[in-house]
Formats: sequence, structure tokens, C-alpha cells
Amino acid sequence: MQVDESGSYSTFLPDGCLCCRKGAKMVLFVTGICRKTCFFCPLSVERKNKDVIFANERAVYSDSDVLEEARSMNAEGTGITGGEPLLELERVIHYIHLLKNEFGKNHHIHLYTSTAPSENDLKELADAGLDEIRFHPPIEIWKKMSGSSYEKSLSAA
Ligand code: SF4
Repeated sequence: MQVDESGSYSTFLPDGCLCCRKGAKMVLFVTGICRKTCFFCPLSVERKNKDVIFANERAVYSDSDVLEEARSMNAEGTGITGGEPLLELERVIHYIHLLKNEFGKNHHIHLYTSTAPSENDLKELADAGLDEIRFHPPIEIWKKMSGSSYEKSLSAA
């Protein structure tokens, strides 16, 4: 790891991490559905493999639930997670539009995925306003990334 001259990691952290470190990121859980079976999966029984939506710990039944939660914490950004968010690509795009339209383009949005999205899907996400994407390839792919769909996706991103 590297540190800057002041002994801080800040210079090297992506914008999404800096916002998160300030406690200014809302966590938007867009579905509990996921096709992976990671042994370390941290999802609770209330969420795992259930098509439920939460903004932080608030159950979401309408767009206004998401906006109210973001306002209540003065969110400067949102991290989109699940489950596997990209199983619900249109839902993700809807929320990116909703948040950017309400809070402006500086509302920073990043997304986690364990999939290797296609170039088209990446373009749709970028066009909607997604600022950052975090790839979490499954453990079985870690030693064979070269030539894999994950390598192509990373390169396209
Ligand atoms: S990809 Fe994430 S949500 Fe899916 S099983 Fe693994 S840790 Fe759980």
C-alpha cells in the first residue's frame, strides 16, 4: 500500500471510497437475488435470495423511500449493492437516474458486481451516470483471469 506525504491514504483512494469514509454514502441494496454461492456471503436471512430493496436499513416500497433516506443522512453519494445488482439492470438504471435527477450529477454513485458485464451493459450504466464500478470476480476465477470474461469486462470498463 502507498501513503502520501502527509501519511494519509486519501490521495490514492477513489472518490467513492472517500465519500464512504466520510459516512456520506447511502447503501442502496437493489435485490437480494444472486446466483453465486460464496462461502463468505454476508447477507442476512431477511435479504438473501429475496427480491427486496433497502436504502441503508430502510425497506423500500417506492422511490420516495429512497429519496427520503438519502435526505435524512445528507447523502453525497450512493453505493449500489445486493445480491447481484446487475441481475436487475433496468432497476439499477432507474435508481441512477432518480438519484442524479434529484441530487445532481455530483451525487457520486458506484456499484459492486460479481458478474462480468458486457460492453453494452457497461455503456448503459455509464450513460445513465454511474461514476465507478467495483468488480468482485468469484474466487475460482482469481488464478485464471487472463482471457476470461472478467478481463474483457475490466478492460471495457
Ligand atoms: S456474490 Fe455477493 S451476494 Fe452473491 S453469494 Fe457472493 S457474497 Fe453473497
